[in-house]
Amino acid sequence: MRWIHQRGVSDVNQMSDLAKSFRTQLEDLVEIKALPVISDQIAKDGTRKWLLDVGEGNAVEMVYIPEEDRGTLCISSQAGCAVNCTFCSTGKQGFSRNLTAAEIIGQLWYAEHILRADPKSIRRIDAYDKTILEHHDGRVISNVVMMGMGEPLLNYEPVVTAMRLMLDDNAYGLSRRRVTLSTSGVVPMMDRLASDLPIALAVSLHAPNDTLRNELVPLNRKHPLKELMAACQRYLPSAPRDFLTFEYCMLDGVNDSDKLAYELIALLRPIKCKLNLIPFNPFPGSGLKQSPRHRIESFAKILQDAKIVTTVRKTRGDDIAAACGQLAGDVVDRTNLAQREMQAQLEREITWMKNN
Ligand code: SAH
Ligand code: SF4
Repeated sequence: MRWIHQRGVSDVNQMSDLAKSFRTQLEDLVEIKALPVISDQIAKDGTRKWLLDVGEGNAVEMVYIPEEDRGTLCISSQAGCAVNCTFCSTGKQGFSRNLTAAEIIGQLWYAEHILRADPKSIRRIDAYDKTILEHHDGRVISNVVMMGMGEPLLNYEPVVTAMRLMLDDNAYGLSRRRVTLSTSGVVPMMDRLASDLPIALAVSLHAPNDTLRNELVPLNRKHPLKELMAACQRYLPSAPRDFLTFEYCMLDGVNDSDKLAYELIALLRPIKCKLNLIPFNPFPGSGLKQSPRHRIESFAKILQDAKIVTTVRKTRGDDIAAACGQLAGDVVDRTNLAQREMQAQLEREITWMKNN
């Protein structure tokens, strides 16, 4: 594990402190390689976005976000997503398949070692490179967020296996509070996660009532807000910090009114949390618009005045990164869309049956 994950070695023969006979055995058993890179772009602010080929016309995205005191990697858990939220480009592509644990941890493996080997790529901002290299012992990635493509809790086992490696001292040794899973609210799996691997949890809310949430996040019809908020309360005692994060994508004229801000206060009041408002990242054909800046600020102020800790997410890498999921959408063979949607529906039903 140390050879692979800490040193980034992919050739078994270079693992010089392993017995020769064991190396020969390993050579036959394992394949250590990264996913093929379709594109690799670096924005002016240092944000770097890769599109990775997972075969059969499918691709997933991975994003590296450098900041003063941390380096965050956003990784994908599925090719496409069956949840089909209205504002999400990944959801619009339908569901293709679950990524394996290797494909998930392989994203971190590749990014960590490529960035480490090529410090130029992270030296776009002078203040940044010094801190990152000093603080993390030569390591580049200090935080991982499961906020790329896919619903991680609908690909539970592989995601948990990969996250265990993120935390393992022989691999990446990240603390539980530096690994965040974002979910649209797969209630039974939130409970499982609390007992299996209670890492930081972010819940994608987007609406404070069931009528609106049913529309924006179709999974809400299966697990409505009352159930979801109860699951959040149950998760809290295991959470690595004493709060959860809620995400709320700001959609012009859809979920950004003062009235909804007050409803949101009532919903969030009973739970220790932070609210992260995400300006909607538009993509062609979505039919949706980003809330204007002043609207986002007024919405945030109503919540802040009610003592709900609220932040507005900075948009990063604007010059390269279209909406999340959009790059991948461009390479997917669209002729298969109808078939993919049927498949997605089937997968959804199977998963829900399994969960219940
Ligand atoms: N499926 C999980 C994790 C991946 S999505 C989830 O839904 O939480 C990660 C975050 O990106 C979610 O909060 C999601 O709502 C948000 N998101 C998706 N599409 C977006 C868009 N076009 N603009 C802004 N945020 C978006
Ligand atoms: Fe899936 Fe998350 Fe996109 Fe919804 S927001 S469709 S759950 S990836």
